[in-house]
Amino acid sequence: MQTSSQRFDAIVVGVGGIGSAAVYHLAQRGLDVLGLDQYNIPNSIGSSHGDSRLIRLTNHEDPEYVPHVRRSLTLWESLENQYGEQLLHRTGTVDAGPPDSDTVQGAIKACKEYDLSYEHLSSQELSEKFPGFELPEDFEAVYQPDGGFINPTKCVQAHVELAQEHGAVTHAHETVEDWNSTADGVTVETDRATYEADNLVITAGAWTQLLVDELEETLTPWRVIVGGFQPADREQFTPKNFPVFSINDGSQGYYGGPDAGTSGFKFGLVDNLEEVANPGDFDPRPTEKERERLRTELLENAQRYFPEGARTIKRLKTCMVTHTPDQDFIVDHLPSDPNVIVGAGFSGKGFKFSSLMGELLADLVTHQESAVDVELFDISRFQRVTR
Ligand SMILES: Cc1cc2nc3c(=O)[nH]c(=O)nc-3n(C[C@H](O)[C@H](O)[C@H](O)COP(=O)(O)OP(=O)(O)OC[C@H]3O[C@@H](n4cnc5c(N)ncnc54)[C@H](O)[C@@H]3O)c2cc1C
Repeated sequence: MQTSSQRFDAIVVGVGGIGSAAVYHLAQRGLDVLGLDQYNIPNSIGSSHGDSRLIRLTNHEDPEYVPHVRRSLTLWESLENQYGEQLLHRTGTVDAGPPDSDTVQGAIKACKEYDLSYEHLSSQELSEKFPGFELPEDFEAVYQPDGGFINPTKCVQAHVELAQEHGAVTHAHETVEDWNSTADGVTVETDRATYEADNLVITAGAWTQLLVDELEETLTPWRVIVGGFQPADREQFTPKNFPVFSINDGSQGYYGGPDAGTSGFKFGLVDNLEEVANPGDFDPRPTEKERERLRTELLENAQRYFPEGARTIKRLKTCMVTHTPDQDFIVDHLPSDPNVIVGAGFSGKGFKFSSLMGELLADLVTHQESAVDVELFDISRFQRVTR
């Protein structure tokens, strides 16, 4: 146990998708930063791991987020250039379903409103362009060429390594147990040491509610599953030949994308919230019920729309996502403790925005104006968030 306390300009608790980006943006601005994570950096227990996270400009569920996706893409490209390795794969995106569905109509609306290039395709035209798709004849699709996916593990790694080049310090396997506001900042107690800082940034994913009691009712961590399948012909389903997709058949939403590494052809359910997770006691090993859901809900539907993509089961991953009641994020100062800033509640759709969220968190620490509208993320929309 270290006894003397060290002081930093900012401490970031949780170096996952969002926290690693915050460490990077703070260090890049010349701040003396410490990033702490209870597990490996990166790790596969939190929410930011694996081969791919989708990034869709069409964003039919939340068209007001399109400017945020654009800014995120700009930041991912900049990160990729600095890091010198591919992080972003612009495979294009497909939004498909019945012609009058929110998926198809919402994607068209977003493309028109934000002047995005797109192709409106029949089911047959989609199969001619990407032979892996076998959607019902009466489905339509919107193909938008600029989206795709990012590699979450590599993105965390890139943010952390580049932050370290700017002087940031990161400690893995060090758990923050408590924090307190002081007259001139915060103290942070871990299982190894006590630190002081001018500002504390809490990006602890599903564990955030354990560090900010009053967010307990606002943040709900869920166990979710995603499947990986073995294609009959892998080449047809690699990022070079196959886009990411979002399908809604009128009753259920599905998402997925190419076989981008070791995970196989990816297929998941949009409304996947069956069981609330206990982050203090999270066991990522799939339960028997989750294995059964893999064989039924995932494999059967994957085979229905992509018979050549989902020949056999390759992988089942259980992890946590953390929802807010309105599924918009929280990126704000704590009203009771203005030196403490929270980035949480990314509601199963946050990774694509993590480059931008790091920038916004750094803006809040350094009191700078942000490049995009941040009102959506205001903590005061939820009642009583004092500690
Ligand atoms: C299966 C799945 C598919 C998804 N698909 C997409 C997608 O296609 N597109 C998309 O944009 N998003 C997607 N998401 C959502 C996205 O991955 C998450 O929104 C994002 O990764 C959240 O990042 P985070 O930094 O908040 O959490 P995490 O990455 O979990 O980071 C939190 C970190 O805090 C650490 N921590 C917690 N408590 C402490 C403590 N007390 N002390 C020290 N460290 C602590 C944890 O160890 C962890 O590393 C998906 C999520 C899942 C699970």
